[in-house]
Amino acid sequence: MEKILGPQMGDFVRALHEEHGVVFHLEDTVVAVAGKQAKLKSGGVLDADLIVAGVGVRLRLALAEVAGLTIDRGVVVDAYLETSAPGIFAAGDIARWPDPHSGESIRVEHWVVAERQGQAAALNMLGLRETFTAVPFFWSQHYDVPINYVGHAESWDDLAIEGDVMAKDCVLRFKRKGRTLAVASIYRDTESLEAELAMEREVAAA
Ligand SMILES: Cc1cc2nc3c(=O)[nH]c(=O)nc-3n(C[C@H](O)[C@H](O)[C@H](O)COP(=O)(O)OP(=O)(O)OC[C@H]3O[C@@H](n4cnc5c(N)ncnc54)[C@H](O)[C@@H]3O)c2cc1C
Repeated sequence: MEKILGPQMGDFVRALHEEHGVVFHLEDTVVAVAGKQAKLKSGGVLDADLIVAGVGVRLRLALAEVAGLTIDRGVVVDAYLETSAPGIFAAGDIARWPDPHSGESIRVEHWVVAERQGQAAALNMLGLRETFTAVPFFWSQHYDVPINYVGHAESWDDLAIEGDVMAKDCVLRFKRKGRTLAVASIYRDTESLEAELAMEREVAAA
């Protein structure tokens, strides 16, 4: 999770799983599965009763492509979640929208974003013409520890940490050029909500 949450939170998540008996084979990969055994690239073999392949998702773009919609690693939509074809909307995992907070065109694979975009797209289908300005949010639950994340930061030049990550009591602020793009937290819900509100206000004032 280092890529999304930074090295400190990545280390914490790994340590938490290790405490629960998980063994990581970092920088290794499964090259073959035979019966109840997974063969590793490094040469080792793991016995397994069950193999779960968590290898990411691939968007089903065929329908959008046939319909001639503009595609850019997802279906491109405008601030109203309308695709390049008037009257056709896209929401959720498949939609790449102009995010007013980061100033970038982003695509996010998370529940709450999909739910909120579904609502916004439905309102716009009914003619309300509301721009989608919600701050992206997701949570990631590890045993009894929830990590909350608001905003969107694909990269950052400063990561400010308040509290203690390993003590499960922290706020991490991902900043670029002094601006907070995203905030991750553990058991600091009020500060997470305050950060979300600040991001909403920043866009409303722009
Ligand atoms: C293993 C896993 C864990 C996750 N954990 C989290 C988490 O902890 N927190 C979080 O925020 N998010 C999580 N997510 C992401 C979250 O599930 C997705 O962001 C969310 O479900 C996206 O909703 P959606 O409606 O955009 O897409 P989907 O839920 O994928 O729905 C798309 C639907 O369209 C259907 N479809 C596709 N093509 C066609 C077609 N041509 N015609 C008709 N129907 C079609 C599909 O069958 C599917 O039912 C997780 C995802 C996975 C896979």
